Amino acid sequence: MIAYRLLQAGPQPEFQEVPDPRPGPGQVVVRVAGSGLCHTDFTVISRDLGYWKDHPPPFTLGHEISGWVEEVGTGTKGFQRGDAVAVNPSWASCGRCHMCRSGEENHCLHQKAIGAPGVGYDGGHAPFVLVPEARFLVPIGGLDPVEAAPLTDAGVTTYAAIKSALPGIWPGSTAVVIGVGGLGLYAVQFLRQLTGAHIVAVDSSEARLKLAREYGADNVVSSGPDAADQIRQLTGGVGAAFVLDCVGVNATLSTAVAALSWRGRLTLVGAGGGSIPFDFFKMPPGAQLVTSLNGGGLALKEVVDMAALGRLRILVDRYPLNKAKQAYDDFEHGRLVGRAVLIPG
Ligand SMILES: [Zn+2]
Ligand SMILES: [Zn+2]
Repeated sequence: MIAYRLLQAGPQPEFQEVPDPRPGPGQVVVRVAGSGLCHTDFTVISRDLGYWKDHPPPFTLGHEISGWVEEVGTGTKGFQRGDAVAVNPSWASCGRCHMCRSGEENHCLHQKAIGAPGVGYDGGHAPFVLVPEARFLVPIGGLDPVEAAPLTDAGVTTYAAIKSALPGIWPGSTAVVIGVGGLGLYAVQFLRQLTGAHIVAVDSSEARLKLAREYGADNVVSSGPDAADQIRQLTGGVGAAFVLDCVGVNATLSTAVAALSWRGRLTLVGAGGGSIPFDFFKMPPGAQLVTSLNGGGLALKEVVDMAALGRLRILVDRYPLNKAKQAYDDFEHGRLVGRAVLIPG
C-alpha cells in the first residue's frame, strides 16, 4: 500500500510503498475511512532525531483515525470484520494504572512521551493501519466514519477539557473559547450542550466567528489587544469563569488571563508554544491553569455517542489520500474551514 510517511527527522513527509499490515495476537488491522490532519503533525515533522529515541522515523503520519475492522489477530474478542470504529490514539498507555482504568489513557502514569499513531507508530495516512490492541477501538455504529475521524483528537480534546471544568461553569457564568477552528468549533458545541453558560468565541477570522455563532456562541470578539476588555464588558466586569485556549501563543494566553474571573479556570489545549508568567500577583486570585491533551477512551465513547444522537455538527474538509501534501499546505496557510480528513481511494 502507499502511505504518507515521515521518512526521517526534519524533511517533509513523502509517499512511500510499504507492506500491508497483518495483525499479530491481540492486534487489529483497520481499513482507514478517514485520517485527520492535526496541528501536532507540524510539530512531529519539525522534531530533530534526538527527540525520537526508541521510535525514530520512518513511520506513517496521522493520529485521527476511523474506519472498519479489516482483520483481527488471534485471541482478539469483541470485534468482527466490517465493524465501524474510531481509534483512541493513546497507544503508549499501559491499560492497567489508575488513569487507564478511569478511561484516561491519555494521562497514563506509565506512558512514554512518544507513542501514538503518526507519532512514533505507523498512523492512519494509509489504506490500512495496525492497531496494537483492540482496547483502542471504539465502535461508532451508524456514524459516518469519515466524520468520526476528527472526533478522536479534535473532538475528544475539547470535550475532556470542558467536562473536567464543568463544576466551575454555572448557568449565567461566561465561558470563552479562543480560536474557533478545528478544535474550537467543537468546544462551542460542547459548552452549548453541557452548560448554561454565556458563550463567547474569540478569533481573528470573521468567517470563523460567523460559524461560531451558528454553532452556538452567544457573542463573538475579534482577536486583538482589546479582546479581554471586550469580554470583561460582556460579563459586567466580572470576567470569564472558564477560558479554553485552542491556540496557545503568547497573545492568546495573555488575553485568556486578562479575561479570567477570580477563581476562573484557564485550560490550554492549543500547542502554539506560547507562555505567560505564573505569578501570585499576575493571576486572578484562585485561578486554575490547566493543560489538557487528548481525552482517553471514555471521553471518546461519550463524544461518539453524542455525535450518533445528532447533537454535534462535524465540519470536515475531505481530501483524497494522494492529495495529502495539498491538504497540509491548505492547513498551514489557513485555507481550511473545518478539519482536513484524508480519504484513501
Ligand atoms: Zn492531534
Ligand atoms: Zn496506564
